[in-house]
Amino acid sequence: MRFLQGFGKKTRNAKLEHCIDCNKELTGHKYKPSPGWKMNGLLCSDCHIERTKEFILKAEEEKKQELAQREKEESTCQLCNSLINSVKDRKKPEWKWNMDSVTILCPQCYEKTEAEFTRKLNFCAICGTKMGFIRYNPKQRWRIDGQLCRRCWDEQNLKSKKADG
Ligand SMILES: [Zn+2]
Ligand SMILES: [Zn+2]
Ligand SMILES: [Zn+2]
Repeated sequence: MRFLQGFGKKTRNAKLEHCIDCNKELTGHKYKPSPGWKMNGLLCSDCHIERTKEFILKAEEEKKQELAQREKEESTCQLCNSLINSVKDRKKPEWKWNMDSVTILCPQCYEKTEAEFTRKLNFCAICGTKMGFIRYNPKQRWRIDGQLCRRCWDEQNLKSKKADG
């Protein structure tokens, strides 16, 4: 009796609906695809299970790729692009070096950058003399990276004055 009632209800508003995947007529349970699947229509139970599995696998695959990508970024020196295998060799540049976009350096590049920074900080950019407490900033248009000793600054100043005429 119960079964008949249920059956009657179903046939009354029977629109012929078909699974959008296998095209089977949907007589039993029908399933709405998840919004993330970007599908329109209804699915039979088998296809719904298949799609669910497929979607989970795809999501896992994407996550794996994302992790691999991040892992690669975190293990690649951003100056020389070499792969840094050991985690303890992944060096972070010091903030005072002013390397905004660089987050990971290999030990060699770290040392090189540090030495370069120390050189700029302590030695004249032209003659390489160790500078004392007093050092001179080159004028911008001289395009010199670093600081200068007194003698080199004067020379450079004279030169650029001559060049200006
Ligand atoms: Zn189906
Ligand atoms: Zn490097
Ligand atoms: Zn100098």
